[in-house]
Parts: sequence; structure tokens; C-alpha cells
Amino acid sequence: MNAPVGKLSSVEQFLGKPRPMLIGDEWVAAQSGKTFPVYNPATGEVIAQVAEGDKADVDLAVAAARKAFEKWGRSNPGKRARLMWKLADLIEQHAEEFAQLETLDNGKPITESRMIDVMGAAAYFRYFAGWCDKLDGITSRVSSPDVHAYTLREPVGVCAQIVPWNFPLLMASWKLAPCLATGNVSILKPAEETPLTALRLGELFLEAGFPAGVVQVIPGYGHTAGAALSGHPDVDKVAFTGSTEVGKLIVQAASGNLKKVSLELGGKSPNIVFADADMSKAITGSANAIFFNCGQVCVAGSRLYAERKVFDQVVEGMADFAKKIRVGSGMDPQTQMGPLVSSTQFDRVTGMIKSGLDEGAEILTGGKRIGDQGYFVEPTIIVNTKPNMRVVREEIFGPVVVASPVDDIEEIARIANDTPYGLAASVWTQDLTKAHKMASALKAGTVWINTHGMIEPHLPFGGYKQSGWGREGGKESLDLYTQVKAVFAAL
Ligand code: NAD
Repeated sequence: MNAPVGKLSSVEQFLGKPRPMLIGDEWVAAQSGKTFPVYNPATGEVIAQVAEGDKADVDLAVAAARKAFEKWGRSNPGKRARLMWKLADLIEQHAEEFAQLETLDNGKPITESRMIDVMGAAAYFRYFAGWCDKLDGITSRVSSPDVHAYTLREPVGVCAQIVPWNFPLLMASWKLAPCLATGNVSILKPAEETPLTALRLGELFLEAGFPAGVVQVIPGYGHTAGAALSGHPDVDKVAFTGSTEVGKLIVQAASGNLKKVSLELGGKSPNIVFADADMSKAITGSANAIFFNCGQVCVAGSRLYAERKVFDQVVEGMADFAKKIRVGSGMDPQTQMGPLVSSTQFDRVTGMIKSGLDEGAEILTGGKRIGDQGYFVEPTIIVNTKPNMRVVREEIFGPVVVASPVDDIEEIARIANDTPYGLAASVWTQDLTKAHKMASALKAGTVWINTHGMIEPHLPFGGYKQSGWGREGGKESLDLYTQVKAVFAAL
């Protein structure tokens, strides 16, 4: 058995003193002087103190961003691309440091921090670097032959980017890469649970040579720093990933100056197993769909529907899989599932499991806390549910799947779509016709056939219904960060 990963000396140093925030190109304490604690969710211990940003800090950052935008918005696209490539290289050079900080802060297995979070972050910067010099407009013939018309694609301006704690570095990269490539400037607010990798990333932005104020990082709480950013009259756009509830607050806050808003919100994604599926792949895939990242994934396959004749086989197979998952500290390379991110999420997830039991559902496997320190919960499968139960309707955001048999396969799409969310869905079948008919019928921004969870920088990602506004990834994200001007010139 491998020993837990030892902390790098650079990680020890980073955690060893209070982390300031990045305003302009300076690392500064909060105006208020306040800091807040950051916890290791595997132990519940405080691992760092971080400057607590608030309205006063946001005001300073917005002023610096406005100044930076004057030049960055008109900067040489090739230069922007080179800086973004440099940043991606620096992320990779510091890969182990980022992976350790992410695992200590979020709890996720170090193997996943390395492969998914850190490598994924570098990949997003590289992909979007390629767009810097491809932000073309069109020329057009108009009603008069003496008029020349064309379009210009221009950046939106100062962007507030508010990200969650489930993939802290990766979500920051999803936000920053398209924003910077298109000539905008960013004020990034990491989640209060997981600010560490965003702060380290801020250091690398300066090392890569990004000008002052192009990227600023303000850690702090949502109702203070986050609200100040989304309500700020001189912020042009807010991009948010997190809960649907907070997404609605952001829309309201943004209405003051009608800033542009893009939202990547919650999900309750259906995972549908037909009787003709390759059962071994469907069972493993369905288990990974909910237990990966301890279920703290907006696209988690959290509602399992299987045709009745294979239902027992599917859920029992998933239960076997669940029992074998090695749950523990993310710093142990053998660990396959870490803790939930915080005591709040622990209470929320265990409270949801209890509500399912109170409403008459049953637990097939899991359901309990593991150990007495840290926020570990067993991988859990809930059966005998009814469509109106809270566990079926609400996002749990933990390693908890609700499973139901379906008798009438004609009804599956309707049942799967019976949710206010529409982020993702997956279908397991060997019948291609059925698979593609389902892909068309499901109201979700991403549909997976015989797989789950694949996301690529060049493909759009986002939600139908209350799962969001806009698409991140691919050329669709350029629409989130640019506005198009039509120019008519009489010759
Ligand atoms: P949240 O939506 O409260 O937090 C996400 C981000 O929004 C954080 O940076 C937070 O500081 C900020 N925020 C909070 N209130 C704000 C406000 N009024 N104005 C501006 N910013 C604000 O999410 P949470 O409380 O950390 O988690 C609660 C639930 O949200 C989870 O159980 C899960 O269901 C969902 N969630 C979804 C995602 C996702 O990727 N879709 C990610 C995290 C959480």
C-alpha cells in the first residue's frame, strides 16, 4: 500500500502564512484587515487563513480592472495567446503543487486533482489561446451598393467571475480562459470553502507577465464579496457557477446596470439504463456517474432509471461497486473517494438522506457517516422513491443516487425530463436508434450515450431550463464574452 503523499515544501510555505488577495498587481490584505479560515475537509482542521474581501476591496479591484481593460481590450491578440500559453506551461510546471493544494482544500483524491483538475485547467487555457486571433466579423452586402457594412466582435469589458468549490481550479480556468482570450478583464471570486488554488493561480498570472488588473482575485464570502461584484454598477458582466438559488440572486443583483449574465447552475441529471445495454459498462458507468468527486458534480447522474427487468441487476451491481470504493483522505494515492467539502455540505447531504427515509424511501447501500473526523459519507443508493420526494426533486450534491424502475419505456423521456433542471443526461443502450431518439427527446445541455461525464474544452457545456444561461466551452463561449457591432460606411 502506498503512503500518503508528503506535502511539498512549496505547499507548506503557501499555507504557512495568511494569504492576501490580488488587486492590480499587488498582493494586499483586505481593507477591513479581516481573514477567514480554510479547512481540510478530511480532518476538519484549519489549514490556512485568507484575506476576506468585501465591498471596499471589490471597489478597488473594479477601478483597477477598468483601467486595465482600456489596454487589454485592444491588445495584440497574438500577445494574449502567448501569455495564455505561458500560463498553461506554468500550471503544468507547478502541477503537483496545485494538485496538493486542491486536495487539501477540497478533499478530492490526489490522483484526480492531478489528472482532471490541473491538466484540465492547462488544457482550457491552451484551447482558448487559439481563439485570440480568430475573433472575426463578417462583411455584408446591404441594400445600397454605395454602402459597405461589416461587423466587429468586441469584448464586453470588466467581468466578475464567481466560482464554486467542487472543481476550484478547473472552474476558474473555464471562466478565465474565454474571458481573457476575447480581450476582457476578470475579477475572480473563488468559493470561500476553496480559495487556495485560485490564489496560487493569481501568482502565476503575474509570473507569466499578464498586465496589472487583467486578472484579480478576491477571496471572500458570497453574500458580501460575491454580492458586491454582481451588483457593482461598473462591472459589465457576471459569470457564475453554483447553485440555482444563488444564480437567481445574481440575476436580481445584475439588474441594476443590466450587466450581462451567464450562469452554470445545478442539475439532477437522469441516468437511463435500458434492458439491452451492455450491463457491465452500464453498471460501472452509472456508479462512476454519481460517486465521482463524491457526487459533488453539477452533472452527477443522480437520478437512475432502469427498465424494470434489469433494475435489480443494475442497482445491485452498483451497490457492489459502491462497497468496494476506497473512501479516505485525498492525500492517499489509493483513495478513490474523498470527503464532502465542508461541514455545511455534510449536514446538507446527511439531512437529505434522512429526509428520503422520513418520506418512506429505503437505503439499498450506504447512508451513514464514515469515521468521526472529516466529512466522509458512504456511497449511497436510495430505492423505493416517489417522484415528489425531496431526494428525487432536489440536488443533493453528494454521493447519493435515487434509483427507480421504469415499466413503460415510452415514458422514460417524460419521467427523465420531469425536473426543473436540464444540465445533462445519459443513456445506456446498444440500440442506436433508441439512443439517438432519446438524445433528441431529453431536455438537457449535454447527453451522453454509453458513457457519462465527458467534457472537452472545444464542446459547449451548459444548461436547459433552470440549469443555466449560456454555454461555456467551444466557440459558443465567445458569445458570452463578446458583443457584436454592425458598422455601415457610406462610400
Ligand atoms: P453557492 O451557489 O452558494 O456558491 C457558489 C459561489 O457563489 C461561491 O463562490 C459563493 O461564495 C458565491 N455566492 C454565494 N452567495 C452569493 C451571492 N448572494 N452573490 C454572489 N455570489 C454568491 O453554492 P454552495 O452554497 O457552496 O452550495 C450549495 C449547493 O449549490 C450545493 O449543495 C449544490 O447543490 C449547489 N452547487 C452547484 C454547483 C455547480 O457546479 N452547479 C457547484 C457548487 C454548489
